Amino acid sequence: MQSTWEWKNNEGMQYLTLPAWQARGVNLYFSSRHGGVSKHPYEALNLSLKVGDQEDNVLTNRIALIDAIGGDLRNVVCCEQVYEHQVAVVDKTDRGRGAIQLTDVIPGCDAMITNTPGVILMGLFADNLPIYFFDPFKRVIGLAHFGYNGKYGQITWETAKKMTQVFRCNYWDIEVFIGPGLCKSCNLISEDKAHHLKDAYPLLNDFICKTDKGFSWDMISTNRRMLEIQGINPEKISSCNFCTSCGDNHFFSKARDGITGRMAAVISLDR
Ligand SMILES: [Zn+2]
Repeated sequence: MQSTWEWKNNEGMQYLTLPAWQARGVNLYFSSRHGGVSKHPYEALNLSLKVGDQEDNVLTNRIALIDAIGGDLRNVVCCEQVYEHQVAVVDKTDRGRGAIQLTDVIPGCDAMITNTPGVILMGLFADNLPIYFFDPFKRVIGLAHFGYNGKYGQITWETAKKMTQVFRCNYWDIEVFIGPGLCKSCNLISEDKAHHLKDAYPLLNDFICKTDKGFSWDMISTNRRMLEIQGINPEKISSCNFCTSCGDNHFFSKARDGITGRMAAVISLDR
């Protein structure tokens, strides 16, 4: 069954939620740009320490968001997000890493998985796709950063694979939610990259199209296809289909605005 997202407003924050997962003890959020204290060009709820915004403002924003969703920043874990395909297995000993400074972020990884309740996985996004995972039987969650500059989506594949290897999840049981990012019309790639992608992944050829503006790549359909090939039930893959660039001005978009802020994707298991 497809899961449907909803907007929530709380303490001046506006963010997406997924009630079907919430009902089963999974807290899933994706923030908008509304509600924070950052100034132009990061107004207002910038949550990234890497984009040139004032650190104090970012931490104020992070505390406000995590408070609004009922969490504690000391339980948040962030990974470095380097457009590679390494997946970190996270437990309670990692709590707080990357939450208030970059120096202790989990290095070299673009995805995290955990079965520890109360650990809050957080990733930062503006146009790349947040991919959320949930196995309701093994009680395992995951969060991946699918980058349009990255290694063509291997991170999604690697995240589900790691869930099966480490926590004995079955692919057919894993549910996936693909959050907001660039739509296929806005995700323009170079001709070189288009050819490279088509050569490397022939099964994805129908998701790369020549348009008036150049080559476009449909990242959401790419992820769906790859997950289905891997063995995940197509009926358990949901997506938001909300474009960060051409949708309403709810989101930061690096492709549209250049220097700008980042939204947070957040997921945790209830204690
Ligand atoms: Zn778009």
